[in-house]
Amino acid sequence: MNDEFVPQWIIERKRDGAALAEADIREWIARYADGRLPDYQMAALAMAIYFRGMSPEETLALTDAMMRSGDTLSWDGLSRPTADKHSTGGIGDKLSIPLAPLVASCGVAVPMISGRGLGITGGTLDKLESIPGYDTHLDSARFREVVDRVGCSIIGQTDRLAPADRKLYALRDVTGTVPSIPLITASILSKKLAEGAATLVFDVKCGAGAFMKTPADARALADSLLAVARGAGRHAEALVTAMDQPLGRTAGNALEIAESVEILRGYPADAGEDARELVLRLAVPMLTLSGVARDETAARALLEKKLASGAALETFARMVWAQGGDPRVADAPEKVLPQAPAVVEVPAPRCGVLARVDADGIGRAVLLLGGGRRAVTDAIDPAVGVSRLRKVGERIEKGEPLATLHARTRAEAEALVPQVLGAFSFSDEPVAAPALVL
Ligand code: URA
Repeated sequence: MNDEFVPQWIIERKRDGAALAEADIREWIARYADGRLPDYQMAALAMAIYFRGMSPEETLALTDAMMRSGDTLSWDGLSRPTADKHSTGGIGDKLSIPLAPLVASCGVAVPMISGRGLGITGGTLDKLESIPGYDTHLDSARFREVVDRVGCSIIGQTDRLAPADRKLYALRDVTGTVPSIPLITASILSKKLAEGAATLVFDVKCGAGAFMKTPADARALADSLLAVARGAGRHAEALVTAMDQPLGRTAGNALEIAESVEILRGYPADAGEDARELVLRLAVPMLTLSGVARDETAARALLEKKLASGAALETFARMVWAQGGDPRVADAPEKVLPQAPAVVEVPAPRCGVLARVDADGIGRAVLLLGGGRRAVTDAIDPAVGVSRLRKVGERIEKGEPLATLHARTRAEAEALVPQVLGAFSFSDEPVAAPALVL
């Protein structure tokens, strides 16, 4: 028991811009996690941190204390190195689904703990659960067994992983303290460090459809994530990537699984070339930092080989099977995944070159079709969404489809056509495809 610990003095210190001592941060989080420190004092400190920030040392101490509020996993004894990727989330961001089996097929184990959709951004777990039978609730023993046997596993956060973050995130959500770089860093990394992978690669999204709207903010978050991950002894790399238009050509749960299969098949006929390219860009540091590829050229060659040989697709099928899902999704996704009854094309109102495809507008349409949640407890419809999205820089003739809507009824799809059309802007001049990595 620390008799010197007076919560309001710690709040006052941060309010006045001073740095907090590591011991105070640890004691604070220990007390908050077990209920000895009330939400009102935690909320006041979070707001003080929001305005005053934290040094890298304070952020590391906060992250470590939050990580230690629950169980931590260890991969000692596994025959392969471990790596994971974290994305700050965006529209059409299905990258984890092809990335984990692809990297695993190259000899790096990927133990991935993912989240559900938040607002208009889809969640990896919701997407995977559109595969009939796929179980995202494995306990740690079973998680370990699947990672060991298949090379990768994607599951949901358990109650015992960083419980202080679960509590604090809910409080931040209702106290205006979410967009604080030290608090976001501690939140993301308390979970990722507890998961135990030796290498972490961050995809920090930037743009209209992302949490971080400007390159400067995205870069600051990337720097903070790297400083803390490296300070905690992990290999780490970060990419700041564009999230102005949706990633790939689909947005919606089952549709994104089908696109992931296309990427793993290696011939992305109906998959966005940008999604495939970003999977490769993120996979490269997972291989080089893990020591299975010497440099970027060797890593890319290995990744392309595993896509072309079908090894990555087979690893995906084995992961699905190991988690109770129907592995035929890898051969014939259209026969296994739920299909929406109404399919309606959105024709271009004019000819021209696409100058903008607003990720936010497409994300909202998917939510309104039933593919996202309005409240945490809402059920989602896995079959609905948008496919065959046309991309910025592409030339379109009048009447050609800009996108295809998958809906529960024709009337629901038709009602959303104006909303989807509003997401597209045209130019009469050529428009370059935007940079993927900023
Ligand atoms: N994702 C998290 O897990 N935490 C945050 O604070 C923001 C995004």
